[in-house]
Amino acid sequence: MIPFNKPPFVGKELEYIRQAVDNRKICGDGAFTKKCHEMLEAQTKSEKVLLTTSCSHALEMSSLLADIKPGDEVIMPSYTFVSTANAFVLRGATIVFVDIRPDTNNIDEKLIEAAITPKTKAIVPVHYAGVGCEMDTICEIAGKHGLLVVEDAAQGVMAYYKGRALGSIGDLGCYSFHETKNYSMGEGGAVLVNNPAMRERSEIVREKGTNRSRFLRGQVDKYTWVDMGSSYLPSDINAAYLLAQLEKAEEINNDRLASWARYYEGFAPLAAEGLVERPVVPEECSHNAHMFYLKVRDIAQRTELISYLKEKDIMAVFHYVPLHSAEAGLRFGRFCGEDKYTTKESERLLRLPMYYGLTENETDRVVEAVKSFFGK
Ligand SMILES: *Cc1c(COP(=O)(O)O)cnc(C)c1O
Repeated sequence: MIPFNKPPFVGKELEYIRQAVDNRKICGDGAFTKKCHEMLEAQTKSEKVLLTTSCSHALEMSSLLADIKPGDEVIMPSYTFVSTANAFVLRGATIVFVDIRPDTNNIDEKLIEAAITPKTKAIVPVHYAGVGCEMDTICEIAGKHGLLVVEDAAQGVMAYYKGRALGSIGDLGCYSFHETKNYSMGEGGAVLVNNPAMRERSEIVREKGTNRSRFLRGQVDKYTWVDMGSSYLPSDINAAYLLAQLEKAEEINNDRLASWARYYEGFAPLAAEGLVERPVVPEECSHNAHMFYLKVRDIAQRTELISYLKEKDIMAVFHYVPLHSAEAGLRFGRFCGEDKYTTKESERLLRLPMYYGLTENETDRVVEAVKSFFGK
């Protein structure tokens, strides 16, 4: 059987977890967490990276740091995971969904300006499949209208737009280290605090609304409640697992990119005949092979292909019922403009097995199975 995903495991995880336990410091912000912060700051060139308990929580922290209040509007694509929206709904915001581009499945930057109202507070681009959104245009629009940019870069660790790490471009960026993502700590994430004005407050919000981080650095002699906040810091045990993976980040990335390239080549004949479409990566983006997907004719053909592959012991999946059409989406948001691509593209997209350690034999088996489905 070829599973859809296998959580990455590179070798040193258990040794590091043992060390974290031996350190007798298994709460948050221990030695392993600090090491992860340093490595992520060096790789992303963001001046402040803080591990969190999930990307959902990194987004919630961002929503607090952006001072989202009831009645504020936040612009995002509808083709995304629920957490992108929930983080802002929890603060009372109304979500304004904008259509996606059919090539990258990212928010269509050309449609954002029409969605801005006097209530708009932030734009949340989602870097689908680790392929960057058109960030120059998005940041320019945000600057012109005085809006914040929060990048949902859950899928974008080790991916770049014009040489800049995804997540390091907007005011805030959010990463996921869930076990289905490229680098894992089981459950976890990080917030990249790129806007210098938010840095001090980011530590406070993450530490239950206290100035404990300043206390630990000896900058104040006791710590107290100074702001809103919650507990968003992960145990050092989880950070130990992540550190082992970050140390092998290049190896993991290259392994995934090799599988992705083999799929891409393998499907070239089907693409040439117009039977499938392969992912599009704009020239200014270097992606991280977070996923390999195909687009087929329509939802009926996708359903057939999924069961065909399943019979051949290959697990393929689809995702994201567009948020604007979901029960909560109808309650908390509205779609701005025409849904030209969101629903249509979401219904014909199929994700193929992709994980660290996927072999050439396995990718070839998947390619052959899809070809035989199309009678090739
Ligand atoms: C995975 C994912 C999230 C949520 O990440 P968690 O770490 O599981 O909270 C949010 N947004 C997108 C786009 C994702 O793919």
